Amino acid sequence: MKTFNRNKEAKMHAATCSECGKNCEVPFEPSPDKPIYCANCYEKEYKSGFSKTAKSKKKNENILDKLDRIIAILEDMKSEREG
Ligand SMILES: [Zn+2]
Repeated sequence: MKTFNRNKEAKMHAATCSECGKNCEVPFEPSPDKPIYCANCYEKEYKSGFSKTAKSKKKNENILDKLDRIIAILEDMKSEREG
Protein backbone atom coordinates (compact mmCIF):
# COMPACT_ATOMS: atom_id res chain seq x y z
CA MET A 1 0.00 0.00 0.00
CA LYS A 2 1.27 3.40 -0.98
CA THR A 3 1.38 6.25 1.40
CA PHE A 4 0.89 9.81 0.27
CA ASN A 5 2.56 12.58 2.10
CA ARG A 6 1.89 15.22 -0.51
CA ASN A 7 1.61 18.03 1.97
CA LYS A 8 4.85 17.18 3.71
CA GLU A 9 6.78 15.95 0.68
CA ALA A 10 5.69 18.39 -1.98
CA LYS A 11 8.23 18.37 -4.79
CA MET A 12 9.99 21.67 -4.82
CA HIS A 13 11.65 23.19 -7.86
CA ALA A 14 14.56 25.56 -7.68
CA ALA A 15 13.77 28.90 -9.24
CA THR A 16 14.89 32.49 -9.27
CA CYS A 17 12.46 35.11 -8.08
CA SER A 18 11.47 37.45 -10.90
CA GLU A 19 10.95 40.27 -8.45
CA CYS A 20 13.93 40.29 -6.10
CA GLY A 21 16.22 37.85 -7.96
CA LYS A 22 16.73 35.62 -4.94
CA ASN A 23 16.95 31.87 -5.20
CA CYS A 24 13.74 30.28 -4.09
CA GLU A 25 11.81 27.04 -4.33
CA VAL A 26 8.38 26.73 -5.77
CA PRO A 27 5.98 23.80 -5.40
CA PHE A 28 5.36 23.73 -9.13
CA GLU A 29 7.52 23.46 -12.22
CA PRO A 30 8.67 26.95 -13.15
CA SER A 31 7.87 27.95 -16.71
CA PRO A 32 10.23 30.37 -18.48
CA ASP A 33 7.41 32.55 -19.81
CA LYS A 34 5.87 33.14 -16.41
CA PRO A 35 7.32 35.21 -13.60
CA ILE A 36 8.38 33.27 -10.52
CA TYR A 37 7.97 34.85 -7.15
CA CYS A 38 9.49 33.84 -3.86
CA ALA A 39 7.18 33.57 -0.88
CA ASN A 40 7.77 37.19 0.12
CA CYS A 41 7.25 38.66 -3.33
CA TYR A 42 4.36 36.36 -4.09
CA GLU A 43 2.54 37.66 -1.05
CA LYS A 44 3.41 41.23 -1.97
CA GLU A 45 2.33 40.82 -5.59
CA TYR A 46 -0.78 38.91 -4.65
CA LYS A 47 -1.86 41.63 -2.26
CA SER A 48 -1.24 44.42 -4.74
CA GLY A 49 -2.86 42.43 -7.55
CA PHE A 50 -0.97 40.66 -10.32
CA SER A 51 -2.71 42.26 -13.29
CA LYS A 52 -3.30 45.63 -11.69
CA THR A 53 -0.79 47.36 -13.97
CA ALA A 54 -2.30 46.03 -17.16
CA LYS A 55 -5.84 46.74 -16.05
CA SER A 56 -5.21 50.28 -14.87
CA LYS A 57 -3.31 51.02 -18.08
CA LYS A 58 -6.32 50.00 -20.12
CA LYS A 59 -8.58 52.05 -17.88
CA ASN A 60 -6.35 55.09 -18.27
CA GLU A 61 -6.42 54.70 -22.03
CA ASN A 62 -10.19 54.63 -21.94
CA ILE A 63 -10.32 57.76 -19.80
CA LEU A 64 -7.87 59.54 -22.07
CA ASP A 65 -9.94 58.50 -25.07
CA LYS A 66 -13.07 59.93 -23.45
CA LEU A 67 -11.26 63.11 -22.44
CA ASP A 68 -10.10 63.56 -26.02
CA ARG A 69 -13.69 63.35 -27.21
CA ILE A 70 -14.94 65.75 -24.55
CA ILE A 71 -12.19 68.24 -25.40
CA ALA A 72 -13.05 67.92 -29.09
CA ILE A 73 -16.72 68.65 -28.34
CA LEU A 74 -15.79 71.61 -26.12
CA GLU A 75 -13.50 72.97 -28.82
CA ASP A 76 -16.32 72.63 -31.33
CA MET A 77 -18.74 74.49 -29.07
CA LYS A 78 -16.19 77.20 -28.41
CA SER A 79 -15.42 77.76 -32.06
CA GLU A 80 -19.13 77.77 -32.91
CA ARG A 81 -19.81 80.44 -30.27
CA GLU A 82 -16.83 82.53 -31.30
CA GLY A 83 -17.19 81.97 -34.98
ZN1 LIG B 1 11.34 37.65 -4.31
